Amino acid sequence: MDGSVTREPTFRESVDLMFNRAAALMELTPGLEDKIRVCNSTYTVRFGVKLRGKIHTFTGYRSVHSEHMEPVKGGIRYAMGVNQDEVEALAALMTYKCALVETPFGGSKGGLCIDPREYDEDELERITRRFTYELAKRDLIHPSQNVPAPDMGTGEREMAWIADQYARMNTTDINSRACVTGKPPHAGGIQGRVEATGRGVQYALREFFRHPDGVRDAGLSGTLEGKRIVVQGLGNVGYHAAKFLLEEDGARIVGIIERDGALVDDEGLDVEAVSHWIRNHGGVSGYSSSGYVEDGPSVLEKDCDILVPAALEGVINLTNVDRIKAPLIIEAANGPVTAGADEILCKRGTVIIPDMYANAGGVTVSYFEWVKNLSHIRFGRMQRRQEEARHMLIVQELERLSRSLGDEWTLTSDFKDKYLRGADELELVRSGLDDTMRTAYQAMYDVWRARDDVMDLRTAAYIVAIDRVAASYKAKGL
Ligand code: NAD
Repeated sequence: MDGSVTREPTFRESVDLMFNRAAALMELTPGLEDKIRVCNSTYTVRFGVKLRGKIHTFTGYRSVHSEHMEPVKGGIRYAMGVNQDEVEALAALMTYKCALVETPFGGSKGGLCIDPREYDEDELERITRRFTYELAKRDLIHPSQNVPAPDMGTGEREMAWIADQYARMNTTDINSRACVTGKPPHAGGIQGRVEATGRGVQYALREFFRHPDGVRDAGLSGTLEGKRIVVQGLGNVGYHAAKFLLEEDGARIVGIIERDGALVDDEGLDVEAVSHWIRNHGGVSGYSSSGYVEDGPSVLEKDCDILVPAALEGVINLTNVDRIKAPLIIEAANGPVTAGADEILCKRGTVIIPDMYANAGGVTVSYFEWVKNLSHIRFGRMQRRQEEARHMLIVQELERLSRSLGDEWTLTSDFKDKYLRGADELELVRSGLDDTMRTAYQAMYDVWRARDDVMDLRTAAYIVAIDRVAASYKAKGL
């Protein structure tokens, strides 16, 4: 494959093409480029589960892209479209994502061809436990070798089943909880994991807007305040991103695209109300008669400031790219822009904040959860009260001084409340995530700005990631 696109490539080809564009600008040891790009292995499993009086056969995958660091990490997706090409593309993206945000993992991904909406909770539990059994007995779920997480169609509930099934199969493994992340807090999870990917999208946009030259490149100005945003997919990632951008940054959500259509409102949609409606009605139709658009994907082409595809891959492609108007696209989903569309958008000057960075909040907080599970203690438990006691000492001393000097000033109670409160786990997680998103952006941005041959953030992100993976291979003597 060379760097130009004439037909729509598959998802994996798209990822490889983007990789190739960056690798062509690097001086890698001969052969290392291929070694980094190829997917190491993909395991396909077909298993039967007896449901409703009959055996149903399911097909699942777990792909390991790179084991330059272990464990390898990557979500498990439940969707009808899951196939080998898709899990391999997603596993490759995990390798580059983990390198970019400096989480010490190789890349992996899994998937099960299933529409989870067709099964009740008990059935899904039996299917998930059986899938877990098949993967765990081959060490494709393992705290030190392969650690899944949620992705499309899965969440805390499925991760809790996986953790429990693994623990049942490994009764003496004290670290068994670290075999999967994205668990609910009461089952070994961490505060802030559910919101993490959407929160990371928000932090990524905030960091982007801290760099005025990038904002100018996108033809925008100012801050996130008042920016018109269209979101595709109001699931875990899309919902949290939209909610935080609206409630905390003053952005306007002018379009929400779902499976069954879209809602548009230039005054701004109520994200909480729409999400509630979707949960109760399975889609957006019926939410309001005005502003409903039956042809959901056409709303990707709506005039707006920021487009947030947060559903599935390949939605911006050669068939619609010419009509995409947003000057800034942040890829909350994995692979929403195909390689062909990416090339056209970049030539046109559209700024794309790439998936491997934009949605890395999930794996970042998963890393924190994994560390928490291995250390068997929640973050902040040792320091929090000691920190509060030290702050109290300063406040008391300041108040004593002010009294002894006869001054009138006092500390406001709001300041005292905030200053005296030691950070809990959620605050620490958000702080770690914010730091990660800022540091990773800086690494990409430096390459983007320093090199004349790097025209876009995606190529910059690949260069940073490939360079780190290459360094890791070199350290192993390859
Ligand atoms: P999810 O299942 O929670 O939500 C997906 C949403 O997209 C749902 O609301 C669904 O109805 C909607 N959707 C599905 N098909 C659609 C279509 N054709 N048009 C419009 N909307 C559609 O999934 P998620 O976890 O939010 O994942 C979304 C994307 O983010 C995926 O690409 C996933 O790989 C990526 N991602 C997720 C995480 C995570 O932590 N969950 C982390 C990194 C990346």
